[in-house]
Amino acid sequence: MVEMNIEKWTKENPELEQVLKGEPVFWINGESKTVEEANAISEYSQKDVEDAEARYERFAPFIAQEFEDTRDNNGIIESFITEVPNFKSFLEDEYNTDIEGRVFLKRDDQLPIAGTIKARGAIYEVLHHAEEVAIEAGLLSGYDDDYKKFASDEFKEYFSNKKVVVGTTGNLGISVGVMAAKFGFEAIVHMSSEAKQWKKDYLRSHGVNVVEHKTNFTLAVEQGRQAAEADPDAYFVDDEHSKYLFLGYTAAGMRLKKQLEAEEIKISEENPLFMYLPCGVGGSPGGITFGLKQVFGDNVHCFFAEPTQVASMMVGLMSNEFSEVAVDDFDLDGKTNMDGLAVPRTSQFVAKLMQMYFDGGFTVGEEEANYNLAALDDIEDIAIEPAAVAGIPGIARIFTSEQGKGYIADKGLTDKMGNATHIAWLTGGSMVPYEDHKAFFQQGIDAGYEPKRKSY
Ligand SMILES: *Cc1c(COP(=O)(O)O)cnc(C)c1O
Repeated sequence: MVEMNIEKWTKENPELEQVLKGEPVFWINGESKTVEEANAISEYSQKDVEDAEARYERFAPFIAQEFEDTRDNNGIIESFITEVPNFKSFLEDEYNTDIEGRVFLKRDDQLPIAGTIKARGAIYEVLHHAEEVAIEAGLLSGYDDDYKKFASDEFKEYFSNKKVVVGTTGNLGISVGVMAAKFGFEAIVHMSSEAKQWKKDYLRSHGVNVVEHKTNFTLAVEQGRQAAEADPDAYFVDDEHSKYLFLGYTAAGMRLKKQLEAEEIKISEENPLFMYLPCGVGGSPGGITFGLKQVFGDNVHCFFAEPTQVASMMVGLMSNEFSEVAVDDFDLDGKTNMDGLAVPRTSQFVAKLMQMYFDGGFTVGEEEANYNLAALDDIEDIAIEPAAVAGIPGIARIFTSEQGKGYIADKGLTDKMGNATHIAWLTGGSMVPYEDHKAFFQQGIDAGYEPKRKSY
């Protein structure tokens, strides 16, 4: 148990006072370093990012063969970006500010195979494991062998004696489970019985063994871990501690550069890039930030986004205690509609690493998220899940908050913001059933949004 030095931490980070009250904050990370300084200390480097991308490429022919929705992109699992000028105008009206620069959304809600950002990290980890097992067994002669062999009966039969295990509330389980089952592994997903029924049904229809626990989520994960550790043929995907999940996310940086170039956007000191990234344990915003910083250096500015009641990364960084503190230590109730972000404790290794790379973060209230979700659906016809909305308010609040304005001034960006590109990462949504989208939309209306076009 750590000593709760609230007074000291508040002195260092005055925003902690609002965090404790469950009020939204915009916070600048005083411990961040230049990319050059951070890279000199970090145990990961651009080489790891390139290694991850090379692994995705080796598996691409197999993935294209097995998943029809990846064929357009030759088996590379990637989403597109969408510019949203109408939604930008809405945000300007709503937050009563001028948003300088262009506004895009990164569409991981449409990511193939799983429809969430987890398809990056989780699938990468399963690929890494399958490759390792195949090479060890002598089924694959090396990295230059033909990876379409993974679709053969010989491979699938070999993998059928091995297990891939994960404990999760949902999205991680879908990506790990579906991919592992595709290789022929016995895929086992431990869930608490409160997890959404459609997720359990979907997994079972893909040949995944869903184990339900009547306990809460943390215990369900723990029981999954223990079952896996006791079994030499089982491999456990560990959301909080996995470096492969993290590395799987990093490849997004190089790919985003290409997508921006296709839009004739070249990021530079004169043309800064601002990123707004929903944050749960931190693996996805952390990995993506790491990858982006390798590509764009100090010209990309990365902010993580959390629910006001589950600000686990924020309290972890403000206190310098990382995963040693949980949100209930700060009297936050940990409840949120933003499912993928309902993580009371951050990942220790990700938080420690990202303390050097994240430029800041912000928290979002439930009503603010619901309102923006309905507005995005109404204005742009983009229906996402609540967790995926969290990044959006950052686009406005960098201009409206004292902290955001101070950041722009301190970095010497005041007269460059007209050339800025803002991207909110939409982290999931396309697999959510119609009835759930309808309920999310209604929550936006309940929060005061008045739809003009859309109806369910
Ligand atoms: C898991 C998840 C996130 C956050 O990713 P972390 O790696 O847990 O930080 C964001 N959005 C959605 C939809 C998710 O499922």
